[in-house]
Amino acid sequence: MLLSSLLCRQGLRVLGQRSVRSMSSVADKFSLPDRYRGSEKSVWVEYIQLAIEHQPLNLGQGFPDYPPPSYVTDALADATNGSNTLLNQYTRGFGHPRLVQALSKLYSKEIDRNIDPLKEVLVTDGAYEALFCAIQGNTNPGDEVIIIEPFFDCYVPMVKSAGGIPKFIPLRLREGAGTSGAISSADWILDPRELESMFTEKTKSIIINTPHNPIGKVFSRSELEIIANLCKKNNVLVISDEVYEWMVYKPNEHVRIASLPDMWERTITIGSAGKTFSVTGWKLGWAYGPDYLMKNLQTVHQNTVYTCPTPIQEAVARGLELELNRRSSPDCYLTSLAEELRPKRDFMAKFLSDVGMKPTVPEGGYFMIADWSALTNKVKLEEEKDPELDYKFTKWMTKNVKLQGIPPSAFYGPDHKDLAQHLVRYCFFKKDENLQKAAEILRNWTAPTSNL
Ligand code: PMP
Ligand code: GLN
Repeated sequence: MLLSSLLCRQGLRVLGQRSVRSMSSVADKFSLPDRYRGSEKSVWVEYIQLAIEHQPLNLGQGFPDYPPPSYVTDALADATNGSNTLLNQYTRGFGHPRLVQALSKLYSKEIDRNIDPLKEVLVTDGAYEALFCAIQGNTNPGDEVIIIEPFFDCYVPMVKSAGGIPKFIPLRLREGAGTSGAISSADWILDPRELESMFTEKTKSIIINTPHNPIGKVFSRSELEIIANLCKKNNVLVISDEVYEWMVYKPNEHVRIASLPDMWERTITIGSAGKTFSVTGWKLGWAYGPDYLMKNLQTVHQNTVYTCPTPIQEAVARGLELELNRRSSPDCYLTSLAEELRPKRDFMAKFLSDVGMKPTVPEGGYFMIADWSALTNKVKLEEEKDPELDYKFTKWMTKNVKLQGIPPSAFYGPDHKDLAQHLVRYCFFKKDENLQKAAEILRNWTAPTSNL
């Protein structure tokens, strides 16, 4: 039963008791608070339900469909069943001591400065909560937050619910991209002048995401320098979402904006254990940055979830310790993961091109976007009622072709959704046999004899 109708019945029951209330006044009183208005729709909620109903081959939500490294799952089993039974109890609120030590060791090396494990690292419930704490802890009502489109969808509701004002700037496909070969995620660029014009005296922060979801762009050092210089000039904070930091395809290099000159002071960097060890269901993440910025995040964290699951933190800490001991070896998972994913990326780029789609080959991450315009006459878009073409395409494909992707217009603000109308996002972190199945599904569907 709908909550509103339940509330209306309750309202009727008190009729004649203390006061007479109309059904609508009860429903109004308990409606969604204004700060969440407009954020009711979630592409994840909708598409995960769609997958349950239609059982497609699921290349939608990003997660691997095969086991993660056994030493992390073994560590988790041992953390709950081993001799230290206290690992089943609460741990330190801002991060389990063993984990913050490991994170500080890891990132101190990466950015070549000493990170204080107790003051400059915060462990969170997934990168989601790190984003939430970073945004809530640094946004006053009326503050402007620059968001690059496409963006990971939760940034916008988080900014709005803090009273902030999202200011959107899109990555645009470079003119002539793809004319002499495949499109690369490096062909998606920001116009530096347009970016400069976004900064006003109200600008509080900019959220960047590298490697990028869904484009796969790995921002180059010079692109990051442009952003960094504008932030320094305008005294603006950077929230850098780097959850795909270990999935960067050579010769590209992951540059942490916090490591650029004078940027540590104004940067909060966010990571995810779910992405680092291919355990997305563990929902553990973290943020690091200078103590005075981390204090703001800690305040939000201590007053929302307070602490994260101890056994998961212990297992992630043990996993990181193992990787730190073999950091320079090709076996280190932080290095080998991209090697494992690269052939999957190339295989997907090929089978999408073979059926007439135009993929953007990502420099990082495990998503690929592709333009499906050439297949428009194969899809009965009119059978789907959504206003956006990419929603129609992905829904129709899920139901009729049994292959699920994500509609990228979900990652755009209201003014630029047109840029994504003919795009779809697929995840390629899947067993080879499932990628082969996806290729076969698309081949059969696009074959001239197909009845669909
Ligand atoms: N940022 C980006 C860009 C993501 O793709 C995701 C995916 N989940 C997150 C943050 C959130 O990560 P987590 O699962 O650790 O909360
Ligand atoms: N980051 C993953 C993706 O983009 C998962 C998103 C989610 O579960 N909300 O698919």
